[in-house]
Amino acid sequence: MAVVKADGYGHGLSRIFTGLANADALALLELDRAGRLREMGWSKPILLLEGCFDKPDIEQALALRCDWVIHNQQQLAVLNSVLPLLRHTEFKPTFYLKLNTGMNRLGFDKGQTQAAIASLTDIVAAIGAPTPVMMTHFANADASDLHDTAVSPAHQHARLMDAKPPHWKACLGNSAAILNCPDLAGDIVRPGIAIYGASCGPHSAADYGLRAVMSLKSEVIAVQSVKKGQYAGYGSRWQARQDTVIGVIACGYADGYPRHAPDGTPVWVQGRRYPLAGRVSMDMMTVDLGPASEIKPGAPVELWGNHLPVDEIASASGTIGYELLCAVTPRVPCLIG
Ligand code: PLP
Repeated sequence: MAVVKADGYGHGLSRIFTGLANADALALLELDRAGRLREMGWSKPILLLEGCFDKPDIEQALALRCDWVIHNQQQLAVLNSVLPLLRHTEFKPTFYLKLNTGMNRLGFDKGQTQAAIASLTDIVAAIGAPTPVMMTHFANADASDLHDTAVSPAHQHARLMDAKPPHWKACLGNSAAILNCPDLAGDIVRPGIAIYGASCGPHSAADYGLRAVMSLKSEVIAVQSVKKGQYAGYGSRWQARQDTVIGVIACGYADGYPRHAPDGTPVWVQGRRYPLAGRVSMDMMTVDLGPASEIKPGAPVELWGNHLPVDEIASASGTIGYELLCAVTPRVPCLIG
């Protein structure tokens, strides 16, 4: 089950759509995005990861043939209040009962689980829906030591397996679990970041054999010769330690590049990496091309992609690849789709 929330982790649903053909199901949050998937011709299951909150949600989810997650008492109550509707629709959703096994975000607590299972079992029997699936989400499957975490994947897995009726399937694995502890990933897995070719930790995307789907590219639009001691950019953060050449690149925080990237963050220019030199501005950034640079305006630049893992830029900037991929702004023209 490929996770395509946040418009396919910032890639654009329509652009990644053909690449998803082999997935058995897609998972996201918004009903209108589910509708878009149906318009594009997706006929396999769609799972709504946060479920339905009221009757209009349920009507729309049924019309779009969506399955959905049930993670709290209110959602069960809403479901119970629309049983006549569910009895008469041709499409019968598969419900994913979500347990809170330590993440403390969504899901039924230990004390509520058996009642939730019983209630959902009754609902499913009443409307003739498929056997539900039991689901949870890992908090630490990306840890470098999977046993030495506050809430270990093994603990969360055991919590789910203890509660799960034997004939229900288990749905646990995010990318990190699939790659780091596949034995705990369950029958149905929900990879997000890995399908976009970025790392979920602790190893690099290349170590996991992943290739970047997105490359953020630009070009050099100007070069400046600077003398030792001169500065570049707002706040004059960067100072030349020697006479050198600065390359000005057409990409800034208005494109989604992190403004807080520090000096030295790598930028790939025409075949090799150069250090960011100075604060990233709205539309531009500057790199130190070195004293003997022959790079000219028009030279190709990759801000992240297969020459430069997004995770490296993210880690230099104190964030994660997920955030950078999702933050690319609509003004960036896309070469596909
Ligand atoms: N399942 C759920 C419920 C999620 O919220 C997410 C993303 O945060 C995923 C699966 C996919 O996670 P990842 O992108 O780390 O594989």
